[in-house]
Amino acid sequence: MSFRFTGTRRPRSPYRRVGFAGIDSPFNENPLVFQRSQLHMPSIFSKIIAREIPARILYEDDQVIAFLDINPIAPGHTLVVPKHEEPNLLASSEEDMIAVIRAVRLVAPAILKAVGAEGFTTTSATGAVSGQSVFHTHIHIIPRFPNDGHLSWQPTTMSAEALDEVSAKIKNYL
Ligand code: AMP
Repeated sequence: MSFRFTGTRRPRSPYRRVGFAGIDSPFNENPLVFQRSQLHMPSIFSKIIAREIPARILYEDDQVIAFLDINPIAPGHTLVVPKHEEPNLLASSEEDMIAVIRAVRLVAPAILKAVGAEGFTTTSATGAVSGQSVFHTHIHIIPRFPNDGHLSWQPTTMSAEALDEVSAKIKNYL
């Protein structure tokens, strides 16, 4: 008898949150720091690193790999990824993030020259709410062209009191 899954439940996350109520953990305060569970499956980027699936690799060293995004926002759109898999830039180590930024600074000028772009945007989504779709830390390098209309967001105005209030709240947590 064959089994057909007809439910709408999403697959169980391969990550679990680190830190639980009542347990003293530095991660308790930070709901975005996850630890891999025993159910962990390698991310699609880990499969690229392991050469299990193909990618257009531009740069690689001991800690970092950079390859073209398969669905680019612009020609030359590149992802810079730490080889050690963690779900986002809060979970990756400082050393890995330094290596990622070093690679961004190395690769971005080459991309700009190759595609004739005047500048680039770096972005990294953390958390599904921000649009993160691959839960393996990565920084996008997106070449920019005049009036390309990409990534434009609408600034708002906020009163001085409201800015003071949010500033005080954030500093409270630092
Ligand atoms: P984000 O949605 O910010 O997590 O970014 C994930 C990015 O990974 C998207 O821009 C995807 O197009 C890209 N991506 C997903 N799978 C692959 C792949 N196999 N090779 C290259 N890029 C990929």
